[in-house]
Amino acid sequence: MKNLRYPALMVNHEKFRENVRLVTDKCREHGIEVAGVIKASNGMPRIAEDFVASGASIIASSRLEQLERAELATADVPLLLIRIPMLCEVEDVVRVADISLNSELKVLEALNAEALRQRKTHKVILMADLGDLREGYFEADELIETALIVENRMEGLVLAGIGTNLGCYGSVKPTAKNMKALSELAERIETRIGRELEYVSGGASSSMMPVLDNVMPAKVNMLRIGALVYTGGLDELAQVYGYKWAEKLNDDAFVLRAQVIEKKVKPTHPIGELGVDAFGKKREYVDRGNRLRVLLAVGRADYGDIEDILPELPGSFVVGASGDHTILDIEDCRIKPEVGDVIEFRLKYSALLRLSGSENVRIYNK
Ligand SMILES: *Cc1c(COP(=O)(O)O)cnc(C)c1O
Repeated sequence: MKNLRYPALMVNHEKFRENVRLVTDKCREHGIEVAGVIKASNGMPRIAEDFVASGASIIASSRLEQLERAELATADVPLLLIRIPMLCEVEDVVRVADISLNSELKVLEALNAEALRQRKTHKVILMADLGDLREGYFEADELIETALIVENRMEGLVLAGIGTNLGCYGSVKPTAKNMKALSELAERIETRIGRELEYVSGGASSSMMPVLDNVMPAKVNMLRIGALVYTGGLDELAQVYGYKWAEKLNDDAFVLRAQVIEKKVKPTHPIGELGVDAFGKKREYVDRGNRLRVLLAVGRADYGDIEDILPELPGSFVVGASGDHTILDIEDCRIKPEVGDVIEFRLKYSALLRLSGSENVRIYNK
């Protein structure tokens, strides 16, 4: 590839597909289908295609615009909206998404009215909050009561299942215990409605923990997977929870490339009276004496936090960054890049999420 423009996000679809395949195979062994979550790639249609080609049976996103883009790429695959619908988007939810996650009667009523108006049936999954304290019914009885209202009184909606989300706001781990609570809740609803629910959605990438530990209850039959397949061994499953299995996945399906725009030896402690940095924060600076560093034309406006980008150049480390610049220490590098050279970074989830949506970042597919 000649004449690339930077900063660039390089997408290796083969590596991404390998990741999705490993996860969907593992899930299938446990009777679980995978909803491929496309939000980390800003809903790139090719990523939706990769998910489907590698075993995902649903495409999911928190944003309707992304589902709409994916729709063209994935033909008959059901589209799942994984953020509780806004009342202002109900018309589009029914038009674009086949299924949505829900936690408010008022929203369900609006979806029902809209589905009837569009002469469609829209599937809903009711969310149970099992302690992570983001979305979902906190009281099981309220969830069951709502499920019965949907089942018996909302002709435009289909009660497709229940679900939960963990490890997002409250950092709560998906364990055998809370997965069992979800299964039991599903069973209580099934008893009341006299049929099986289509979906019991046990969470996101972190819910691979009970799968890998062989403690996921059989009732859980869907996971909504994003982070793990994007970042592989850089995902928290490997990094925080030490699941070696995650290291089988590629952690370089997505890499950032940035160009060197300055190379100079400079002191490491700022000179002058110190106030605040570009983001209005007071900072501490370590004095390491004079060191060789390069300046890269990419910054926090593109990727967020410096902890989330990992330079591939051995011996280098990110010293700091402002909105559009990143300072990379190369004093200890055996190979020292020149102005015009390009440095590659592996990416943690939140950096990828931002980069894929940044209009300053070119995306190249391979
Ligand atoms: C983002 C999201 C997911 C996917 O989470 P990952 O950690 O990326 O696997 C699943 N469910 C909901 C509701 C989400 O918002």
